[in-house]
Amino acid sequence: MSKQLILALSKGRILKETLPLLADAGIEPAEDLGKSRKLLFDTNLEDVKLVVIRAVDVPTYVQLGAADLGIAGKDVLLEHGAEGLYEPLDLEIAKCRLMTAGVTGAKPAHARRRVATKFVNVARRYYAEQGIQAEVIKLYGAMELAPLMNLADEIVDIVDTGNTLRANGMEPRELIQDISTRLVVNKAAMTMKHERLKPLIERLRDAVGTRRADVAAS
Ligand code: AMP
Repeated sequence: MSKQLILALSKGRILKETLPLLADAGIEPAEDLGKSRKLLFDTNLEDVKLVVIRAVDVPTYVQLGAADLGIAGKDVLLEHGAEGLYEPLDLEIAKCRLMTAGVTGAKPAHARRRVATKFVNVARRYYAEQGIQAEVIKLYGAMELAPLMNLADEIVDIVDTGNTLRANGMEPRELIQDISTRLVVNKAAMTMKHERLKPLIERLRDAVGTRRADVAAS
C-alpha cells in the first residue's frame, strides 16, 4: 500500500476557500496550484500529496481508494450517494443552500412538475418526500435558463446570494438542505492507514475550530 496519503481537492469555487484552510492546518502545496496545469502536487508534508479534480469526481476517487481523503461539497456527496465514505468533519466553508426555484411570481404548477437540475437523485428524493409528482430532467449547466425557455417549471440548484436567480427573473422557493464543504475519508484507508490519517484529520479539525472561535470572538 502506498506510503503517501492522497488528498483529493474539488476544483473551482471550493478550491479558493480550501487552500487558506489547508494553510491554517499547516498543509501547503509545493507550488502554486493556480499557475500549474499539473493535477498531482507535492506538499510541505512529505507523506501528503494533493490531486485537484472536478468536484463531482471527488467522491468516486475516495470511494474507490484512488485518494485516501477528499474535500467535497455536501451537495455533491448527497447526489453521489457517498457509500464507502466516512464524513468525519464539516469544514464549514463554501456554505450555500440547495433549493428549488422558479420564475418570479409564477405559481408552482400543481400537476406533474417538470424540474431541471444536475442534482437528479437529490431532486427525485425531495419531490417524492413532499408527495409531489415530478419529472426530473438532467442538465449539466445553466439551469436558470430552463424555466425561461419552457423546458421546466422549476429548477433545483445551489443558491448562495441569489443573484444568479434574480438576474434571470427567478426566485428561490423551498430549501432542500443547507450545504457546506466536508472532509471525506475512504473507509478501508481509515482502518489501514489510521495512524497517518488521524493527525491529518486532527490538524484540519483544529483549524476549523480556531476559525470558529475567531468568528465568535469578533
Ligand atoms: P449566487 O448567484 O450567489 O446565488 O450563486 C449561485 C451560483 O453559484 C450557482 O449557479 C451555483 O452553482 C454557484 N455556487 C454558489 N455557491 C456555491 C458552492 N458553495 N458550491 C458550488 N457552487 C456554488
